[in-house]
Amino acid sequence: YRVKQAGGGHAAFQRQEDERTDLQVERLTALHRALERNELHLYFQPVVHAETQVVVAHEALLRWIRPSGTVSPLDFIPLAETSGLIIPIGRWVLRQAVDAVKARRVERVSVNVSALEIRQPDFVEHLRWVLEETGVEPRRLLLELTESSLLEPRFAAVLLEVHTLGVRTALDDFGNGYNSLVALASLPVQVVKIDRSFTAPIGEDTPAGKRALEVVRGIVTLANAFGLPTVAEGIETPEQADLLLKVGCTYFQGYLFGRPEPLSSSSEPSNPPPSLSVYGAF
Ligand code: C2E
Ligand code: MG
Ligand code: MG
Ligand code: MG
Repeated sequence: YRVKQAGGGHAAFQRQEDERTDLQVERLTALHRALERNELHLYFQPVVHAETQVVVAHEALLRWIRPSGTVSPLDFIPLAETSGLIIPIGRWVLRQAVDAVKARRVERVSVNVSALEIRQPDFVEHLRWVLEETGVEPRRLLLELTESSLLEPRFAAVLLEVHTLGVRTALDDFGNGYNSLVALASLPVQVVKIDRSFTAPIGEDTPAGKRALEVVRGIVTLANAFGLPTVAEGIETPEQADLLLKVGCTYFQGYLFGRPEPLSSSSEPSNPPPSLSVYGAF
């Protein structure tokens, strides 16, 4: 009886596992087709100068828009990474983002780059080629990297080559990981993006809100000690913006200033904003 029950339990478990695998295979097949079917779209979210609220750049963010609904990058980027599809997808993203600069629809652009892309031996060669093809100034591009890239053996070398091209880098999601401080200490990035998990509680009249603000103050001090400006992510309220301006964040990004949106086909080419710091003459 006991054996039978265990067997039944195992069968149910196996069935669940199979269903999960089926779903993954289905999604992977769908993701394969997404590029050719033009289901991948690039949205752009403004980054503003904290003091003046002038838009200085846009971050390019992927959206997978299927007939059944929109899939979050948090759901499909991991799938793209494990399957290797992130390589063609990442190339498509880079090209779209740089094209948007070329067309003067955004002045400067931030592009998220996966550790797996860094691992490609021709990553820098491809980057150089895209910039040459489009004629876009390298300084208009910022690559956002996360500490997971630290694990890539060639990372330091790649970073050096990227900087030699004149392209700048940001450490994304700073603080959301175990190696943030190691990453900051060892990587010569030019911008620190403070993770939204610190911004979110700020403005709450709670111990957590006060502690988060102090942590951000510390991050800003640390970044400034390296001469680096900071971007606070995920700002949703004017109270958060006030407090984060007081602790010295250089740039803001969040729904308060603009959600990620497609570039509307009717929108006029942007006026050149003042060349502020990292995103400009930094
Ligand atoms: P990320 O690079 O940290 O991007 C910021 C995320 O915060 C975006 O989520 C953005 O929509 C969201 N966000 C911005 N402001 C606010 C706010 O005020 N409130 C809230 N609640 N959220 C805000 P999204 O677009 O879902 O992207 C999630 C992550 O997926 C990104 O985090 C990035 O790690 C990854 N990702 C997105 N596009 C790409 C891409 O083209 N390539 C790669 N490799 N990763 C990407
Ligand atoms: Mg990012
Ligand atoms: Mg981020
Ligand atoms: Mg984040």
